[in-house]
Amino acid sequence: MERLALVTGGTRGIGASISIALKDKGYKVAALYAKNDQVAAEFAEQTGVAVFKCDVSDFDQCQQVVRMIESDMGKTVDVLVNNAGITRDTKFHEMDFEEWNDVLQTNLTSCFNLSRAVINDMRANHYGRIINISSINAQAGSMGQANYCASKSGMFGFTKSLALENARYGITANVIAPGYADTDMVRAVPQKILDKIIAKIPLQRLAEPEEIAHTVTFLADENAGYITGSTLSVNGGLYLD
Ligand code: NDP
Repeated sequence: MERLALVTGGTRGIGASISIALKDKGYKVAALYAKNDQVAAEFAEQTGVAVFKCDVSDFDQCQQVVRMIESDMGKTVDVLVNNAGITRDTKFHEMDFEEWNDVLQTNLTSCFNLSRAVINDMRANHYGRIINISSINAQAGSMGQANYCASKSGMFGFTKSLALENARYGITANVIAPGYADTDMVRAVPQKILDKIIAKIPLQRLAEPEEIAHTVTFLADENAGYITGSTLSVNGGLYLD
C-alpha cells in the first residue's frame, strides 16, 4: 500500500533530503514550508513533491493544512516528520521573551500541533510513524541556545509519552538527534566557530543532510515497528550517550 508522509520544513536543508528520500522509497510526500515560496516552488518542480505553506507554530493552520493534504492526496497521513526548526541564539541573560517564545512555538509546540492533527486517524488505522527531529544540543546543552535546547529536549518526553500511549495502535514515535549538518542553519554559524566544532567531531566533518534522511526512512519503514520511544543519535561521534 502507498503510504503518505508529511514532512515539516520539507523544502530546504535536512527536510528537503528527508522528503526526497521518502519519495525515493515510494511514499507519497507532502512537504510544509513557512515563507520561502520560491525555494518551495522550485523544489516541487524539481522533485514532484507536493508543497504546502503552513506556519507550524499556528495550531489552526496545522489542522487545516492536514485536512487539505488528506483531501488532495486522497488518504490520511501515515508518517509525520516534525523537522521544521529555527534558532534565535543569544546568551540567556540577554534573551527576550520573543526569542524564547518563537523558538518554543516553532520547534516544540509545532510537534503538538501536527501530531494532534494526525494521531486520531493513525489510531483508527492502527498504523503510524511519528519522527521528531531534535538536536545534539538538546543532549549536550549549548551556549547561547537555552531556548533552542529547551525546545529540542522537550521532544524527548513528548515522544516517549506518545510512544507509550499509542504503541497498542501500531504507532511508533521516535526522536532523531542530528549533530551538525551542512545546511543553511549551520552555514549561518561564523566559520571560526564552525572550524572549532568540526575539529572536535571524531568523523572530522559535518553530516550530509542525506545521512540524516537515511535514518528517517529507516524509522519510517513498516519493518521498524518494534522501535518506539527511542532516540537515534546521528552525530559523527561528537556526543555519546
Ligand atoms: P533550515 O534552516 O535549513 O530549514 C528550516 C526549514 O524549516 C525550512 O524549510 C523552513 O521553511 C522551515 N520552517 C521554519 N520555521 C517554520 C515555520 N514556522 N513553519 C513551517 N516551516 C518552518 O534547517 P535545517 O535543515 O538545518 O534543520 C532542520 C531541522 O534539523 C531543524 O529542526 C533543526 O533544528 C534540526 N537540526 C539541524 C542541525 C543542523 O546542523 N543543520 C543539527 C541538529 C538539528 P522556509 O524554507 O519557508 O523558511
